[in-house]
Amino acid sequence: MSAEKIIDVRNVSKWYGAFRVLTDVNLTVERGERIVICGPSGSGKSTLIRCFNRLEAHQQGDIVVNGITLHDKMRNVGEVRKNVGMVFQHFNLFPHMTVLMNCMVGPMWIKGVPEAEARRTALQFLERVRIPEQANKYPVQLSGGQQQRVAIARSLCMQPAVMLFDEPTSALDPEMVSEVLETMTGLAREGMTMVCVTHEMAFARAVADRVIFMNAGQVVEQGKPDEFFGNPQHERTRLFLSQIL
Ligand code: ADP
Ligand code: MG
Repeated sequence: MSAEKIIDVRNVSKWYGAFRVLTDVNLTVERGERIVICGPSGSGKSTLIRCFNRLEAHQQGDIVVNGITLHDKMRNVGEVRKNVGMVFQHFNLFPHMTVLMNCMVGPMWIKGVPEAEARRTALQFLERVRIPEQANKYPVQLSGGQQQRVAIARSLCMQPAVMLFDEPTSALDPEMVSEVLETMTGLAREGMTMVCVTHEMAFARAVADRVIFMNAGQVVEQGKPDEFFGNPQHERTRLFLSQIL
């Protein structure tokens, strides 16, 4: 029996106007897999993972997420987004809502979960990211690391099939990076399917099943962390690794 594909990307290309930002990208993510995507700034990493929940549209090739094919005429984008959690570099919490409400509104408004149940779930996930005591504060009253952990909890409250992370630690002060990485490592250990765009290579070594290197809109190389870091095949990958390690 073949493993269940949560994300299946076949020969995908995308343009911003005349600029080809993605070229023939192929990538599959199976249930329970942890993927790290790295590559230089501007290589198309954010664009690619934003295509996975249709925050961006691709123009060529096929993307299937949790069994749903993404295309221009689809009516069930909401169904896709319910299943795909996303954590951004800049947290993107709702500033006018408490931490607790940030975690409750998705399930209540998008899934129709009753308020009492949404509250229970929110508290459970705030517990899991170890900040239940911040529940009644507003985002602005929290540190960056705490805000990012709320963003993770908020996504988890939707019980997604896969979590996407787009450089979740790169806007944080250095002393707050580890608390977010520890939270992500915990999720990985619990079997969450994850696609993480990050340059935290120690994290990649510790938790990734596969590391993918992108350059100029293409997947240049991918492999298990040991192979990828120990014996990169392409000159461009070696150059990139020499610059960040
Ligand atoms: P990365 O996340 O790897 O840094 P991005 O996916 O953000 O790369 O961007 C890839 C390229 O596409 C960059 O050259 C960027 O300037 C360009 N780009 C990103 N978003 C847009 C957009 N909305 N319109 C036009 N060009 C864009
Ligand atoms: Mg990016």
